[in-house]
Amino acid sequence: MRRETERRAWRGALGDCVALNVIMMGPPGAGKGTQAGRFARERGLLKISTGDILRESIKAGLPVALRAKEMMDRGELLDDATMIAIVRERLMRPDAQPGFVLDGFPRTVAQAEALDCIVAERNNGPLVIVDVRVSDEELVRRLGGRLICAKCGANAEPAKAGEAAPTRCGKCGGELEQRADDNEQVVLERLKVYERATKPLVEFYRDRPTFRIVNGAQPQERVAHELDTVIDDAVLVGAKQDTPAAVKAVKSGKAVQA
Ligand code: AMP
Repeated sequence: MRRETERRAWRGALGDCVALNVIMMGPPGAGKGTQAGRFARERGLLKISTGDILRESIKAGLPVALRAKEMMDRGELLDDATMIAIVRERLMRPDAQPGFVLDGFPRTVAQAEALDCIVAERNNGPLVIVDVRVSDEELVRRLGGRLICAKCGANAEPAKAGEAAPTRCGKCGGELEQRADDNEQVVLERLKVYERATKPLVEFYRDRPTFRIVNGAQPQERVAHELDTVIDDAVLVGAKQDTPAAVKAVKSGKAVQA
């Protein structure tokens, strides 16, 4: 009940008060893309997946994407300057002002530092960091069986209990296929890259009052519930530090002007 009030208040406050700025961290296969999409949809926020943006550019045959494809097919990270420029451009658009859910960015400390600058420049709300945790064995198992839609790029729905796995996309009916970088060799490389480049991010964020850990090894609905709870809690804590007035508004269920 209290959460519902808070949620309405954040919605009411959007645009003219405190934005809901969320980063979804976690290794490939942790389910952060699915959860980021759901959370963004439910809260009316912009979901920004850097992997999706790159895959769309490759599909569209953009010349700059050719090099990106080579790197992605090897499971390596693209350079920080390119990724920061892509994200900065999206986050500065008017439709990102109520808030955003970032999936796949930042992946290096340099990207995280740049994101802090962008958030400071936007100056409309705290940054909430969620780290979705899953064991390595479970990740390899999940990624080996993961299918995405060849047409719209959505992740395939998991098979329902007692039913065969779907062969077509639940969203657009497109054909399902394995992602080029989900074969076992590339998966292992991506997990290695995650350990090396992205895990230090946990150190970077760990001491912030808006950093939260979620157990990603649970059924999707449980992960969703845990995520909602920790994000609502963290945003209150963050807003309290940023703008005491915003917290008063959240608690009373009223929107406020910044
Ligand atoms: P994802 O869909 O997030 O797993 O990303 C797929 C691939 O896109 C990664 O393995 C990288 O090659 C590239 N990529 C996506 N986001 C980033 C980023 N923030 N920094 C560098 N490379 C990225």
